[in-house]
Amino acid sequence: MIYWIHIARSIDRVTLHKDRCSEVPSVHSSSDFWEGGWFDYPDKERALAAMEQAGTTQQRRCTLCKP
Ligand SMILES: [Zn+2]
Repeated sequence: MIYWIHIARSIDRVTLHKDRCSEVPSVHSSSDFWEGGWFDYPDKERALAAMEQAGTTQQRRCTLCKP
Protein backbone atom coordinates (compact mmCIF):
# COMPACT_ATOMS: atom_id res chain seq x y z
CA MET A 1 0.00 0.00 0.00
CA ILE A 2 1.15 3.52 -0.82
CA TYR A 3 1.47 5.97 2.04
CA TRP A 4 1.56 9.72 1.71
CA ILE A 5 3.12 12.30 3.93
CA HIS A 6 2.14 15.94 3.80
CA ILE A 7 4.87 18.29 4.96
CA ALA A 8 3.52 21.70 5.96
CA ARG A 9 6.50 23.87 6.83
CA SER A 10 4.35 26.92 7.43
CA ILE A 11 2.66 25.25 10.39
CA ASP A 12 5.65 23.03 11.26
CA ARG A 13 3.68 19.83 10.87
CA VAL A 14 3.86 16.58 8.95
CA THR A 15 0.83 14.29 8.50
CA LEU A 16 0.71 10.64 7.45
CA HIS A 17 -2.03 9.43 5.10
CA LYS A 18 -2.96 6.18 3.42
CA ASP A 19 -3.38 5.99 -0.32
CA ARG A 20 -6.74 7.23 -1.60
CA CYS A 21 -7.45 9.34 1.45
CA SER A 22 -9.82 12.11 0.44
CA GLU A 23 -7.31 14.65 1.74
CA VAL A 24 -4.64 13.55 -0.70
CA PRO A 25 -4.92 15.83 -3.73
CA SER A 26 -5.36 14.12 -7.10
CA VAL A 27 -3.16 16.71 -8.78
CA HIS A 28 0.16 17.47 -7.18
CA SER A 29 1.91 20.74 -7.55
CA SER A 30 5.67 20.65 -7.43
CA SER A 31 6.86 19.40 -4.08
CA ASP A 32 10.22 20.03 -2.51
CA PHE A 33 11.14 18.09 0.58
CA TRP A 34 12.61 21.17 2.24
CA GLU A 35 9.79 23.46 1.16
CA GLY A 36 6.95 21.07 1.87
CA GLY A 37 4.27 19.32 -0.12
CA TRP A 38 3.01 15.78 -0.73
CA PHE A 39 5.31 12.76 -0.97
CA ASP A 40 4.42 9.14 -1.60
CA TYR A 41 6.20 6.06 -0.29
CA PRO A 42 5.74 2.40 -1.16
CA ASP A 43 5.50 1.24 2.45
CA LYS A 44 4.78 2.54 5.90
CA GLU A 45 8.33 2.14 7.19
CA ARG A 46 9.73 4.50 4.58
CA ALA A 47 6.92 6.98 5.12
CA LEU A 48 7.59 7.01 8.87
CA ALA A 49 11.32 7.47 8.24
CA ALA A 50 10.54 10.41 5.97
CA MET A 51 8.34 11.92 8.68
CA GLU A 52 11.30 11.73 11.07
CA GLN A 53 13.58 13.34 8.49
CA ALA A 54 11.11 16.15 7.90
CA GLY A 55 12.09 17.48 11.32
CA THR A 56 8.82 19.24 12.03
CA THR A 57 7.62 19.81 15.58
CA GLN A 58 4.31 18.01 15.08
CA GLN A 59 3.92 14.55 13.60
CA ARG A 60 0.31 13.52 13.06
CA ARG A 61 -1.66 10.68 11.57
CA CYS A 62 -4.68 11.63 9.54
CA THR A 63 -7.90 11.27 11.50
CA LEU A 64 -9.85 10.43 8.31
CA CYS A 65 -7.89 7.49 6.94
CA LYS A 66 -6.19 6.48 10.22
CA PRO A 67 -2.94 5.13 8.76
ZN1 LIG B 1 -5.78 10.87 5.40
